[in-house]
Amino acid sequence: MSTRVVLASHNTHKLEELRRVLAPLVPGIELIGYDGPEPVESGVTFEENALIKARAAALHSGLPAIADDSGISVGVLGGSPGIFSARWAGPARSDTANVDLLLWQLGDLAVEHRRAEFVCAAALAIPGGTESVARGEWPGSILREPAGAGGFGYDPVFLPEGETRSAAELSPEEKDAASHRRRAFTALAPAIQKLTTK
Ligand code: IMP
Repeated sequence: MSTRVVLASHNTHKLEELRRVLAPLVPGIELIGYDGPEPVESGVTFEENALIKARAAALHSGLPAIADDSGISVGVLGGSPGIFSARWAGPARSDTANVDLLLWQLGDLAVEHRRAEFVCAAALAIPGGTESVARGEWPGSILREPAGAGGFGYDPVFLPEGETRSAAELSPEEKDAASHRRRAFTALAPAIQKLTTK
């Protein structure tokens, strides 16, 4: 028997990625897309925003819903761009402009001052009120210039810890295996599994 769970995102790439990640972690899960209203992300943490999105999708669909909220956090910038990652360089939400601004801000800082991590909060909301949230972090540093053509967002300037290639130079499978999203949803998986055993 399969358990239907809504993914609170209009992003079809994210739906495919999370189907790949969750299939082995939660056998029997059927992850379905969401086309309902998107709530205002008024939280000040990744966790709050992930819960806001999951809650809205559970309410709208009447089904258990999962959501994520993610971004990049740079140590020397006090954790910014953080929850503002998508619109760091302005309302156009341009990946290129965001990366250019971040590189300009870090200027000629030496590698030991360029430490950063991708962060993801993964949330589950079940109609009736039960909620869970988990966090995943992928440590690394910010390169001095972009490298690689894969991925999206800040991938070309993110060098994962222990790697010689940027996140944009990893294959999708390599990134799936190591990413902050994988780590967050692995931590959330036991709460999702409980749905399938009820
Ligand atoms: P959201 O959680 O989909 O709203 O993503 C927030 C923003 O964080 C994205 O627009 C990207 O700029 C950045 N981001 C989140 N995850 C990644 C990733 O895996 N690679 C590159 N950038 C990411």
